[in-house]
Amino acid sequence: MDHFPIFLATRGQKILLSGGGEAALAKLRLLMKTKAALHVFAPDPAAEIVDWQAAGKLTLHRRPLAAADLPGARLFYAADEDDTLDAENAALAHAAGVLVNIVDNLHDSEFITPAIVDRDPVTVAIGTEGAAPVLARAIKADLEERLPVTLGPLARIGKGFRKLADALPMGRARRDFWREYYFATGPRAMAEGKDTVRPALKTLLHTHLTRKARAGHVAFVGGGPGDPELLTLKARRALDEADVVIYDRLISPEILELARREALMIDVGKEGFGPSTAQEHINALLVEHAQSGAQVVRLKSGDATVFGRLDEEIDAVDAHGIGWHIVPGITAASAAVAGIGQSLTKRGRNASVRFLTGHDMKGFADHDWAALARPNEVAAIYMGKKSARFVQGRLLMHGADRATPVTVIENASRADQRVLSTTLNDLPRDLADAEMTGPALTFYGLAPRAAVQVATETPLEELA
Ligand code: SAH
Repeated sequence: MDHFPIFLATRGQKILLSGGGEAALAKLRLLMKTKAALHVFAPDPAAEIVDWQAAGKLTLHRRPLAAADLPGARLFYAADEDDTLDAENAALAHAAGVLVNIVDNLHDSEFITPAIVDRDPVTVAIGTEGAAPVLARAIKADLEERLPVTLGPLARIGKGFRKLADALPMGRARRDFWREYYFATGPRAMAEGKDTVRPALKTLLHTHLTRKARAGHVAFVGGGPGDPELLTLKARRALDEADVVIYDRLISPEILELARREALMIDVGKEGFGPSTAQEHINALLVEHAQSGAQVVRLKSGDATVFGRLDEEIDAVDAHGIGWHIVPGITAASAAVAGIGQSLTKRGRNASVRFLTGHDMKGFADHDWAALARPNEVAAIYMGKKSARFVQGRLLMHGADRATPVTVIENASRADQRVLSTTLNDLPRDLADAEMTGPALTFYGLAPRAAVQVATETPLEELA
C-alpha cells in the first residue's frame, strides 16, 4: 500500500485549484461537495466556474496562482492540463508545504483523489494506486447499484439517534440494534416516508432495551478449501457477526480477512500443542467464550464434518447446554476433483466413493483394502502424504493394478494449486520428488481429464 487512505476534515479549510478547463471542472464538482473554502485560479475560466462563483460556491481569481496565495492552504490541485505550468504551480505549493495533486499525474502527486461513491455521510473511496482505473470504475458502478440512495438519509437520521441508543449496553446489544435499523427497520420505514423513520427507531430501541440478552452460541463453520469465493453465504454471514473466531491452520488469510473487524481471532492451529492437549484446549475455549455470551465461530477447513474432530467439540459444547449449529462447507475432495475436471462418481465406473484418511491419531489408518483394490474404485484420501507408501503397499497386497491412476492435488482451489498425475506404482517416488508442502488430497482411481487446465481463474484481461 503506497497510498494510505484517510478522510480529511475540510470544513472551512482552504483548498486551491489552478485551472479553468475540463479537468478543473471535474475536480471542482467533487470538491464542492465539501464545506471547504475553494479558491480557483484561472485567467480564462469555463462558464460553469463563473456561475459557481456567482452562486457563492467558490472564490474565483482571474489570474495565475502566486506564491502568496499558498500559505495556510490544505491541498492544491494543479489542473491546468499543461505539464510545464502544472509543474511550476506544484513546485510553488510544495515549497509552501501544501499537499499537491497534479491531475492525471500519479507520479508527481503527493496525494490522489479516489473514485467516490457518495451516500453522504456514508462515503466509499476506491483506489487502485493507478494500477487499474477500469477496475476502480467497475467497483464504483457495482457499489452505486448496490447501496440504496436512502442510505445517506438513513445514516444521517441514525447519527442523530446515537446518543439515545447509547442506553443499550456496549458491544453486541448495540450492534444488533443498529444492524436491524440499517438493514430492516430503517429501509422499511423509509419506504413509507422519511418522517416515519425516527418513530420507528424509537420503537425499535424500546424493543431492544426490554429484550433479554442474547445467549452465547457456537457455529461450526466449514471454511472451504481456501478460495474465499468458495465460502457459503451462511459462512460469510457467520463471520460477519462473530464475536470470536477460533480457526485452524488450514484457514487461508483471505478468509480471516472477512471476519468482523472487532472479532477476537484465536489461532488454534499453531504447532506446539500435543494433539490431545490441543483438542481439550479448543473445547475449553469454545465453552468459555460461549458462556460469556459470545457468538463464536469455530472455523474449520473444508467441511467441518469431514475429518474435523467435530463431534468432540459438539459434545463439549452440548455438555454445557450451549446452543450450536453446523454450517456446511466445500470439502477438499470436491475442490480437488473440480481442479482435475472429473466427477467423484461416474455412471459405469464407480457408483460409490470413499473418503479415507491416510492416518489417524493411532497411526496409519486401516480400511477395507480388498474392496478398494477392485477395478474402478475411487477414493479421496485426506492427510495422505505421509501414508502414501503404506496405502500403496496395502492396495498392492490385495491385488490392485499397479497402473491404477492416482492424482495428488496440492492446495486445491488456491492460487498455488498443483496437480501430480501418477500411478499406484509410482506414487511414493513421484510424491517425494514433488516436495509438496501444502495440504494435499490424493485421489486413488482418478486421473486428470486430459483437456483440463490447472488454472481455473479467468485472467483479468479477458474479463475487461
Ligand atoms: N475438513 C477438511 C479436512 C480436514 S483434514 C475438509 O473437509 O476438507 C486436512 C486434510 O484435508 C489435509 O491433510 C488435506 O488432505 C485435505 N485438504 C484440506 N484443504 C485442502 C486443499 N486446499 N487442497 C488439498 N487438500 C486439502
